[in-house]
Amino acid sequence: MAVTKIVKIIEGDAPGKCTELTYFQIGPADAKRKIFLQAALHADEQPGILILHHLLEYLIDADSKGLLKARFVVFPMVNPLGMGDIGFLQHQGRYDRSSGVNFNRQWPDLYAAIEEHVGAYLTDSAEDNVKRVRELVQHWLSEQQPVNALQQQRHYVMQEAFDADYVLDLHCDSDSLPHIFTVPQSTEVMQNLSDWMGAAATLVCEASGGSSFDEVWSTLWSRLAKQFPNKPIPQATHSATLEYRGQFDTFDELNKTDARHLYAFFQAQGLIGGELILPLPPKTPSATDLAATEMIKTPQAGLLAYTVELGQQVKKGDLIAELISLDGEEAFRKRIPLYAGTAGVVLSRNTFKYVWRGASVAKIVGKELLPSRGKYLLQD
Ligand SMILES: [Zn+2]
Repeated sequence: MAVTKIVKIIEGDAPGKCTELTYFQIGPADAKRKIFLQAALHADEQPGILILHHLLEYLIDADSKGLLKARFVVFPMVNPLGMGDIGFLQHQGRYDRSSGVNFNRQWPDLYAAIEEHVGAYLTDSAEDNVKRVRELVQHWLSEQQPVNALQQQRHYVMQEAFDADYVLDLHCDSDSLPHIFTVPQSTEVMQNLSDWMGAAATLVCEASGGSSFDEVWSTLWSRLAKQFPNKPIPQATHSATLEYRGQFDTFDELNKTDARHLYAFFQAQGLIGGELILPLPPKTPSATDLAATEMIKTPQAGLLAYTVELGQQVKKGDLIAELISLDGEEAFRKRIPLYAGTAGVVLSRNTFKYVWRGASVAKIVGKELLPSRGKYLLQD
C-alpha cells in the first residue's frame, strides 16, 4: 500500500522560468497491471481535472483498504505549460504558444521508434512479447534527450505511460454529450467504459492522422500485430480519449459522479476489488466508425443560431443551424442555412456563437462512412 506524490521540474525555455508537473502513483508497486490516467492535456478542457481530483480520493481510500489490484498513475493536470498560458485575462491552452503545436497532436510514433529491432526480439509467448516490446520502448525513451519545455513535459509523461495496460486521456469538447475516441481493437473494453460513462457515442478509427496521445499507445500494438502475423501479439494497451461533455461542464457534483463511474468501471474490469459501488449501468450505443461522424463547418464568418439540441436525431438534409451574415450586401439580414450531411445524433455544438470561416458547427454521429472526411479525421 502506497501513495506517492511526484513533482517534476520542467526547465523553462526562457531564463528564470520553471514549471512544476505533479502526479501520483497509487497502489501496489508489484501489481501486474497498470492504469495511466491524465487530464487537461488540452489545458482549456478542465472537467477531467475535477474528475481526477475526486478519483484520487477514491483510489487512496481503496488503497488504504488493500483493494487495488493494479497500480494507478494519475496526472490530474498533465499540461502545466498550457495552464500557464494566460493573456488579456483569457486562458488559452490548446496549443503550445512557443511552437504552435497542438498539445494533443504529433506525439512520437513508437512503432517507428522500435521497428528496426523488434523482429529479433519477438517470441512465441504473448506475455514475453509484451514485456520485450515494452523494454524496447523504455530503452528508446531513455535515449531521448528532450530540449525545450514542451519536449521535457512530454518526456516525463511518456516515461510513466509506456508500460500501462490502460491509458485514459480525459478531455472535453466545446458543448457536447460524453463520448469516447478509441481504436477498433479496444472496442469491447471501451463499450464497457462507455456504459459506465453514459457515453452518447464511441468513435473508432485505426489512425486519425493526427498522432494524438491515446493513439501512440494503441497503434503500437495493432501495427505490431499486423506486421508480425505469425507471432502472438495482444492489444496490450487499451487507450482512449474520453470526452467529458463540454468546456463549461466543470461542476463538483457532476464530476464527482463521473469519478464514481470511472471507479466502478475499474471494478468491473477487475482492477479494484470490493463490491461494485454502483448498480450496473444501462447499455449505451455501440461503437461507430469515426469516418461516419460528420463535422459540419462554417462556410464563412457569422453568428450561429442553432435549430437542434444535443442528442437530437436528425436526417440527412435537416437544418442544423443558421448563420447570420455579418458583412456584405445582406449583412445582418441574411441567414445562411447549414444542413446535416448525414443521418445521426447531434453529439456536439460550438459553445461560441461568433464563428469564422471553417469553424466547427456540430458533430453528427452517423453510421454511413463519409468519403468527404478524408484521411485526417480530427478537429484541429
Ligand atoms: Zn481535447
